[in-house]
Amino acid sequence: MRRKLAAGNWKMNGTSAALAELNTLASIHPTPDVDILICPPAPLLSRAADATAQSQITIGGQDCHAAVSGAHTGDTSADMLLDAGATAVILGHSERREDHDERNEDVRAKARTAMNAGLVTVICLGESLAQRVAANTLDIIAGQMSGSIPDQATGENLVIAYEPIWAIGTGMVPTLEQIAEVHDFIRVRLERRFGEGVGRSVRLLYGGSVKPSNAAEIFAVPNVDGALVGGASLKAADFSPIITALE
Ligand code: PGA
Repeated sequence: MRRKLAAGNWKMNGTSAALAELNTLASIHPTPDVDILICPPAPLLSRAADATAQSQITIGGQDCHAAVSGAHTGDTSADMLLDAGATAVILGHSERREDHDERNEDVRAKARTAMNAGLVTVICLGESLAQRVAANTLDIIAGQMSGSIPDQATGENLVIAYEPIWAIGTGMVPTLEQIAEVHDFIRVRLERRFGEGVGRSVRLLYGGSVKPSNAAEIFAVPNVDGALVGGASLKAADFSPIITALE
């Protein structure tokens, strides 16, 4: 019922030479049974969209501003992402929350603007190691959900990525039980807030050190509908087996 999603977050990696990876990925997966989303750095967006135009791969941004337009030097609006060929945007990644002091209400405002513009929003949630050790994970997730997710969320315009901060780029991965616990918790809270129909249709991604060797077991966890992948999305040779594990 929920279509699986393999999402790649290139972060601040890749220049035009990296576009070749998209061609390779498209040629390996001409008719994938899952959705494939690649989020390259903003300057590459339109060329990435051109490179994937004849393929099933879709393109997304890594952030957008909460305002529709205006005096915000260095920022990118939701409409600009759409205009460049993006159909989605990652919001509230822990690196944005940490590096740019983004609070839940900032993420919510951005998500509202992005949804109004017609973008799919991939809203990231996740606890720090200290929060996990203090057994605060579910409280943190609950607060991030109520604070970051706007009321107009639907199964079409919202994807949630659970990304424990301590698992991002570290090679450390939660146990399958820990992933299941958080994903089940998110599902129940979505159903409670938005009703069963919407709550059951929102896709929940796991993110944090997903790689070809651990993808299959993570994808077998209930309520894991795909992954948000950083490092292992940069090379088609790494991302392709993750897509295949999801199919
Ligand atoms: P990683 O990053 O796969 O390199 O751990 C995931 C993310 O930050 O989205």
